[in-house]
Amino acid sequence: MDMEKLVSLCKRRGFLFQSSEIYGGLNGFWDYGPLGVELKRNIKDAWWRDMVTAHDEMSVTPGAPATYEMTGLDCTIIMHPQVWKCSGHYDLFCDMMVDCKDCKSRFRADHLLAIELQFPNSKETDAPHVLLGGTGEKEEIIERHKKKLKKLVRVHGDYLTLSGFMTYGQLNEDGRKKFICPECGQQGNMTEPREFNLMFKTIVGAMGTENDAAFLRPETAQGIFVNFKNVVDSTRVRIPFGIAQVGKSFRNEITPRNFTFRSREFEQMEIEFFCHPDSSRDWYEYWRDRRMRWYTELGLSGDRLILREHAEDELSHYSCGTADIEYAFPFLTEGEFGELEGIAHRGDFDLRSHMEGKLVKNEEGCLVLETGPDGKPKYKGSGRDLTYRDDQAKERFTPHVIEPSAGADRATLAFLCEAYTEDEQPNDKGQMQTRVVMKLHPRIAPIKAAVFPLVKKDGMPEIAQGIYRDLKKRFNVFYDEKGAVGRRYRRQDEAGTPYCITVDGQTLDDQTVTVRDRDTLEQWRVNVADVVEEIAGRVG
Ligand code: ATP
Repeated sequence: MDMEKLVSLCKRRGFLFQSSEIYGGLNGFWDYGPLGVELKRNIKDAWWRDMVTAHDEMSVTPGAPATYEMTGLDCTIIMHPQVWKCSGHYDLFCDMMVDCKDCKSRFRADHLLAIELQFPNSKETDAPHVLLGGTGEKEEIIERHKKKLKKLVRVHGDYLTLSGFMTYGQLNEDGRKKFICPECGQQGNMTEPREFNLMFKTIVGAMGTENDAAFLRPETAQGIFVNFKNVVDSTRVRIPFGIAQVGKSFRNEITPRNFTFRSREFEQMEIEFFCHPDSSRDWYEYWRDRRMRWYTELGLSGDRLILREHAEDELSHYSCGTADIEYAFPFLTEGEFGELEGIAHRGDFDLRSHMEGKLVKNEEGCLVLETGPDGKPKYKGSGRDLTYRDDQAKERFTPHVIEPSAGADRATLAFLCEAYTEDEQPNDKGQMQTRVVMKLHPRIAPIKAAVFPLVKKDGMPEIAQGIYRDLKKRFNVFYDEKGAVGRRYRRQDEAGTPYCITVDGQTLDDQTVTVRDRDTLEQWRVNVADVVEEIAGRVG
C-alpha cells in the first residue's frame, strides 16, 4: 500500500489534518477531522467496552474469584511533580540527541544511521573513511549524499565499498569526526550526543518560579498508581483486578514523523492490572494474548501483526517480561514493524516507588532506594501504605502489576492502513474504474450506514429521510441525495461505510429498499420497517 495515497485520502475525506495547518502546521501535532474523530472514538469505545464494562473473561489464577474485575479512572494531565521524580521519568525519560552545529538540524542519536564507506585500495594513507548520515533506508541515504560521493570518488579515483551500518549513538569519537550531516552535508560537525528529557514543562500558578514547574504527563499510567489506594478503599474490588484509563499524553519527541505514528501529543489506552506476586507470570501471559486477540478481532491480522517478546537485555530494570504488539506499517522498510502496544510485567516497582521513593537496581539485582551524594534518598516517596490486605487469605503484600499500554493514535493509523484497498469496478457508464474502499470493521467504521433516494422525486427523498431519522437514533448514519448514485456509493466506500440503503422505484410499490454491502458489493432487499434491525444485526 502506498502511504502517500492514504495520507491524501485522510486529508481529502476528513480523517486527519495537520494541526494549525493555515499557519504552516506544527510538527508532531495532528487534528482528527469529522470522519477521523468518529473512527478514533469508536476504537477507544471498543477498547473500553471489551476491556472494562463488557469484559466477562475468567480468572487465570487458581483460587481467585472466577472472573476478575475491571474499573476505570480519569486522572489529570498535570500531576504533583514528585510523581515523576519517584516514577523515574524526571531523571530517566530521556532520549539522546545530536545537533548539526552548521545547519542546526536535530536528530535522535539512535535513529540517525551511519553508513560506513571505505576506499580500500587507495594508495593514499589517509584514504577517506566516510560516514554518511541519514534517517531513511540505505539507498535513500546514499542518494542524498550523491554529490559528495562523486567528489570523493573523483579525488581518490578508487573503489568505494560499504563496510558498516550503525547508528550515530554507536559511533566512537573517531567515527563521529567522519560523520556527514544528512541535512547540510558538513563533515564532523555534530555535537556530542546529550540527554534530552521528553517531558513538556509548564508552570502552575502566577509566581512563575522554578518551584512552580510541573510537567504534562508522558503516560497515563502514573495517575492509576497514585490512586490505587483510593480505588481499593472506595470500591469493593479485590485482587486480581485492573484499572483502565484513556487519555492524552505528551512527549517532546525529538523527531516526530511517520504521520501520526510518532506525535508529540497523543492518546493512550492503558490498563494497570494488580495481582498477587505468585500469579503475576500467568497474568502477564494472559494479557499478552488477550490484547493480541483484540486487534485481530477488529480486523488486523495476517503477517502484518506480530507479537514480539523482548529479549532479556531489552527489558527495563524492573521488568521480568515485556512483549510488544507490532504492525508492519507501510512507511517502514520491508521486514520492519512498529509498536502498537507494549505489555509489561512491572513487578511491584511502581507501587513501591510511590511508597518509598525512586528505586534503582543494586549489584545483586534488587530494587533499592536511590541515594543522593549526601547518602539520603534522592527522591522521597509519599510515605503512604500502598500494600494490599487479602482478608480471606489473611495476607498483606505489595501487588505486582501487568501493564498493557496501547496508543489510540497508532491503533487508528494501523486500522486505516489495513483498511485501505483498491479494486476495479464498473462505473455508472459500465467502464472499469479503480475503486478506493476503506474496509474498516463495522464496529469502528465512522458511519455505519448511508441512506440515498435514487432520484430526488416521486416521494423517494421523504421515505429515505424517514429511514435516516430512524437509524440516527441508534447509529452514526449519513443522508445523501446529491449526484449520481454510483458517485454516492464511491464516496461512502472511501469513508468506510459498511452499508448503503437506497430507496428506489420498487420501494413505492412494495415498501422494500436495497441494502448494499461495501466489501462484497452484494445487494438485497429489506422491508422499510426492518431496516433498523437489519443494520443493527450487522454492525453490532
Ligand atoms: P516508542 O519506542 O515507539 O517511542 P515507547 O516504547 O516509548 O514507544 P510506551 O512508553 O510503551 O512507548 O507507550 C505505550 C504506547 O503509547 C506505545 O505502544 C504507542 O502506541 C503509544 N505511544 C508512545 N509514544 C507515542 C508517540 N510519540 N506518538 C504516538 N503514540 C505513542
